[in-house]
Amino acid sequence: MRIKQQLFPKTIEECIALLVEHEGKARVLAGGTDLFLWLKEGKAQAETLVDISLIEELKHFESDDKRMILGAALTHAEVAAHETVKSCFVALADGCRNVGSPQIRNIGTLGGNIVSAQPAADAVVPLVAMNAKCMIISASGKRTEDIENLFKGVGKSSVDPSRELITEIYVSKPAGRYGTGYVRMAPRDAMALPVVNAAVMVVARDGTITEARIVTSPVAVVPFRTKRAESSLIGKHVDDLSALGAAAQLAEREAQPRDSKVRGSGEYRKSLVKDIVERALIKAVEQIG
Ligand SMILES: Cc1cc2nc3c(=O)[nH]c(=O)nc-3n(C[C@H](O)[C@H](O)[C@H](O)COP(=O)(O)OP(=O)(O)OC[C@H]3O[C@@H](n4cnc5c(N)ncnc54)[C@H](O)[C@@H]3O)c2cc1C
Repeated sequence: MRIKQQLFPKTIEECIALLVEHEGKARVLAGGTDLFLWLKEGKAQAETLVDISLIEELKHFESDDKRMILGAALTHAEVAAHETVKSCFVALADGCRNVGSPQIRNIGTLGGNIVSAQPAADAVVPLVAMNAKCMIISASGKRTEDIENLFKGVGKSSVDPSRELITEIYVSKPAGRYGTGYVRMAPRDAMALPVVNAAVMVVARDGTITEARIVTSPVAVVPFRTKRAESSLIGKHVDDLSALGAAAQLAEREAQPRDSKVRGSGEYRKSLVKDIVERALIKAVEQIG
């Protein structure tokens, strides 16, 4: 299928109308950092590209004491630099700051990072740890989904970009004190993919941990929550460093990375999981204070 045209809707309604009009032969285009490569390599097909870069609503940012709302077309550079993101959800700011190079961060978007469905995507791993949700709009209506549930395998998303548009991402601010942490292990090359990464969110009341979410990748075909490690932290005091270490040890046991020519052997990457999860947990509890 050859690309015949690139269209520039200015509103979400216009974008959906164009997707409907082209009956599955059009595709949403955001920054194009992934999509243009796939089109060139024949891994994706489209006759019409529906470029969402002029839709101002998709650049929306809002925050109050209950939640933060991020437009799906915000770039990694915009998210990483946002003062509210840096102060409320440092893991997301750190994740976005680690994407590719400045050029990639200046055009690559949150929505594209989610729909590309790479398990270790640098914005996605923190978003899953933060229990983020997103709004998906199509001709059949609107739905809100946990971002964690959109992943169906490596490069496989339940969002169909020939019919559906992610418009906003929602992150609730937990009641009680909380902190987040992100750690990425990669070669020194600035464009390197993570060998392994981890993001966590820890919530506490009166110094006792009431909720923990720990995500590490790529150790499975989707961003991987280490649920036994998470539950081991409930009821522990935030100052209990041995409990953080024990949780990180459990995370290492749960992770099952495969051998990879580009990222290293499964055994090597498994051995890194404890260290990066422990460092991410320490970052998070330091914010709880
Ligand atoms: C050199 C290089 C280095 C990279 N390094 C990293 C890295 O370190 N970490 C990392 O995580 N990623 C990296 N990436 C991958 C890529 O930059 C990110 O995944 C980026 O966030 C994709 O966003 P985009 O706006 O460019 O998406 P696009 O390429 O425009 O789109 C990607 C997919 O998402 C769909 N889509 C986009 N927006 C929406 C939406 N709002 N609703 C529905 N569907 C949508 C498109 O149709 C397409 O299927 C790298 C890419 C390159 C080329």
